[in-house]
Amino acid sequence: MIIPRPKEFPDGNPIFMIISTNLVLQTPGGGALPTLSRAQIERLWGVATYHARIGEYAENPVFLLVVEKIDSFDEFEFKPLRSLLTRIDAELFALAGRACQVAYFIRTHNYCSHCGEALTEVTDELAVYCQRCDYRTYPRISPCIIVAVYRGEGPDAEILLARGERHPPGLFSVLAGFVESGESLEQTVAREVYEESKILVTGIEYVQSQSWPFPHSLMAGFVARYAGGELEVDGVELIEGGWFKFTDLPHTPPAGTIAAALIEHARQCAKG
Ligand SMILES: [Zn+2]
Repeated sequence: MIIPRPKEFPDGNPIFMIISTNLVLQTPGGGALPTLSRAQIERLWGVATYHARIGEYAENPVFLLVVEKIDSFDEFEFKPLRSLLTRIDAELFALAGRACQVAYFIRTHNYCSHCGEALTEVTDELAVYCQRCDYRTYPRISPCIIVAVYRGEGPDAEILLARGERHPPGLFSVLAGFVESGESLEQTVAREVYEESKILVTGIEYVQSQSWPFPHSLMAGFVARYAGGELEVDGVELIEGGWFKFTDLPHTPPAGTIAAALIEHARQCAKG
């Protein structure tokens, strides 16, 4: 449970996520969370514009501190959240992602989207409130699907991988897309795969999910079997794609990502 604006400076051995705009305080060069002294934390606590208790890690409380836009703090640097992806423990990364999402929510919800009145924070839950409309707004979470499509069994089995415009050259991944209003997750899987590749799928099976805090997605991961169609990438969301044998995969996302987990799950399914 997220507790906004706890009054007491925390005792024990708390962990702090320090956020400035959309950046996370990290060790010099990025890639790890800093170890801060009590004196350093007290300095940051004193200048923080927002703080919240956002969870626990290894039985220690985890706190978010938002500070005004600065580039560095002592020897540490503010770096993108992405610098921590697969570099720190997945549970700790999820908390860093939560810290960024809470900070993003507070930063981007200053006025009522209905009447334009200035919003006030509420502290009994994570929300902001419009007194004129009597309306509470909560952090936005955007559901997406991500799906590994495979065909065949045994040594000839193949997986559908593609490269989006945001992927660096040579990196191929599974397909993904946002859920539209009124859709079930399974409908999104079938629609997105067809729109992006003209491939029809069947046997859609949920595997696992992962928070994807860039800036506030929730990825629901599936596998699905090929049911028909000729591959034809849309050229807009996807630049290139193909069927790849599991024994001869191109460069794919690293272990620790949901894409990697789904590719492995599809490989197991395709063993028959
Ligand atoms: Zn309002």
